[in-house]
Amino acid sequence: MDDWKEFIDSFRKFLEREVEPFAHEWDEKGELPRVIFKKLSDIGYFGLVAPEEYGGSNLGIIPSVQAMELLSEFCGSTFFSASASFGLFGEPLKHFGSDIQKNEYYRPVLSGEKIGCMAITEPQSGSDVSSIKTIAKQKKDLSIELSGQKTYITNSSIADYAIVLARFINSEGIDKGLTHFIVNLDNPRIQRGRPMKKLGLRASVTGELFFDQAVIGNEENILGGIGKGFRQTMATFNEERLSIAAYSLGVLNACLKECISFASSRMSFGKPIYQHQAVAHMIADLYTKVESVRSFTYRIANEMQTDQEKERKDRDSEMGAKCSALKLFASTQAREGVNLAVQIHGGAGYMEEYKVARLYRDIRLAEIGGGTSEIQKSIIAGSIMKRSKK
Ligand SMILES: Cc1cc2nc3c(=O)[nH]c(=O)nc-3n(C[C@H](O)[C@H](O)[C@H](O)COP(=O)(O)OP(=O)(O)OC[C@H]3O[C@@H](n4cnc5c(N)ncnc54)[C@H](O)[C@@H]3O)c2cc1C
Repeated sequence: MDDWKEFIDSFRKFLEREVEPFAHEWDEKGELPRVIFKKLSDIGYFGLVAPEEYGGSNLGIIPSVQAMELLSEFCGSTFFSASASFGLFGEPLKHFGSDIQKNEYYRPVLSGEKIGCMAITEPQSGSDVSSIKTIAKQKKDLSIELSGQKTYITNSSIADYAIVLARFINSEGIDKGLTHFIVNLDNPRIQRGRPMKKLGLRASVTGELFFDQAVIGNEENILGGIGKGFRQTMATFNEERLSIAAYSLGVLNACLKECISFASSRMSFGKPIYQHQAVAHMIADLYTKVESVRSFTYRIANEMQTDQEKERKDRDSEMGAKCSALKLFASTQAREGVNLAVQIHGGAGYMEEYKVARLYRDIRLAEIGGGTSEIQKSIIAGSIMKRSKK
């Protein structure tokens, strides 16, 4: 417990020194300095849910959520690019990878020397993951050749490694289903598109990956078993959804701080604007959003921690629906909260020099990435109805 509190204190100081002064500049430039991955690893951010044998501290889900909340308060782009590397790439390796795979790919990503990404989405397949078209074909010599295109991939232009979801066709030409492949992107037959111009999170690069009959290795590059890709993708979504709730909470915290400061110093009609009831009520609404999202996020984080300590057969079958409900609620509250924050700032809120303008652009992803709000509602309703029939 003390380790964890000490870590959060030092992490806040680290963010005030290494991230806050540069977040606006990185956003304008449209990229993060690569060294930030190493610095986040060195301070211990990547290792919070990683086993000690791979260099982690394994302090647990609650400290990890707290650290994610804090980072998001300072810089959403850093949060998303870091999460794509140690989370979207690292967590499936931790859960499903072999020792050899963990040593070769997980360890260097955790140490911040290499950067990872996860490539699932394709131009014609986003929410409908099972319809992806990328093919991994096993040749007669048992090497595996990847062909297809991925899009909207976080870290696409800076990543060293990717977990790629593809349909596996074995050497006998039989379709063995969706499978995850660990891919070294340093391959002449893998091309990366230019980072896409985005509404927000501009320093977190997003783009395409093209696989042109790229030989990526052999069955040793398969993560956790042939045909297990779809189930693995769904399993990692719970953690991603909890992390997006932590991000939403961080953004709400930042909004509240910015608004308290602005509403105290900005004068209109001879008094600070917080003394106008309409503004005071917006601050009260913002505070209420912070508190409700905080309670829900940490309740689920606690439950997830307890659940992960249980045998698989005893785990909470409702966890998926709970994580979906949390993400749905937190992202909606955060988007509404940032809208209030911009309104409280008046014209200043529309100007890039004020942090709330960046937060307003950035937050929109929370309702889209990791499954859209509509997909979360389908998951929740599906789960409730299924259980009601048992
Ligand atoms: C900044 C950013 C970073 C991203 N990073 C990654 C990444 O690192 N890796 C990766 O693989 N992907 C990534 N994505 C992709 C992201 O996961 C998808 O954009 C998201 O899942 C939605 O898919 P889509 O864009 O194809 O939308 P679509 O699936 O085309 O959906 C369009 C609309 O239709 C609705 N809709 C679709 N199907 C249904 C349904 N069955 N019921 C009700 N409504 C439905 C959706 O809710 C949405 O409103 C990223 C996206 C962005 C914007």
